[in-house]
Amino acid sequence: MKKNIKKLKRIYSIFSVSFVALSLFGANKIIQRLHEKDTTIVTEETAIPQRVDYKAYLQQEEDKVWQKLETINISKEAVENLKKTSYQNYLNDNSTYKDNNQPVSKEYETMVHKILREFGIDPATITLGYWDGPSEACAGDFFMKINPVLMPKVSPETQTFMIAHEVQHILNKDHSTTYFIRNLLENPVSNSELTPDHPLMHFILFAEKRADMQAAMKSPEWAKRYLCFAQEISQLGDIDPNDTAHPGTAERVKIAQALVENSKQQIV
Ligand SMILES: [Zn+2]
Repeated sequence: MKKNIKKLKRIYSIFSVSFVALSLFGANKIIQRLHEKDTTIVTEETAIPQRVDYKAYLQQEEDKVWQKLETINISKEAVENLKKTSYQNYLNDNSTYKDNNQPVSKEYETMVHKILREFGIDPATITLGYWDGPSEACAGDFFMKINPVLMPKVSPETQTFMIAHEVQHILNKDHSTTYFIRNLLENPVSNSELTPDHPLMHFILFAEKRADMQAAMKSPEWAKRYLCFAQEISQLGDIDPNDTAHPGTAERVKIAQALVENSKQQIV
């Protein structure tokens, strides 16, 4: 059972690690919290059969996160302003992700570059490298790392979706947003010390949800890949029916199913 949970956590960690683990050494706590929190994502969406404006839904969710951050006097404007005036600080503080880099195989490079291009990013602007952390991949504003040991353990379709999920973090600049929010905290604790109700944790959870949904909303094919990915995680969880620690996976399948249905309606 522990092994199953461990495996599931590893797969699941892609949601958090993509940008969380970059400064994170207590990943498991975050992953657990993500999981617990994720169960609330779309419970109310699952019964919606008609076309849904998920972009508007994500915007509402983002607005809520910034309202939460306002309660500790951190505004979106302040963070955006820091990104303009102090972006070099972010680059300097994360320079190890650019400099201390080992190449990945040509196969992964080709795969990542194709997906970057599909989402409108010039691969030349992204440093791609090797990663031996607890997830299949991770990404910051200007880099992506692939774990060549863990990645082949999931299906090609799921691998593709995991990379697309990371690409959304690059597009949304989630890593630098997290960095600047943390800079504005009165007590800049690490992610592993954040309580589930901490406003920064709300941002992190939102960014993970957005990365999934944004990738899935690209096209009906991407929605199907999200479903494949979610089902793969779900199946891992189902290995042990007594494992009630990960209800989030079932919810992800529901979100993915809703997005697949939604995408069908949009092409009719
Ligand atoms: Zn992520």
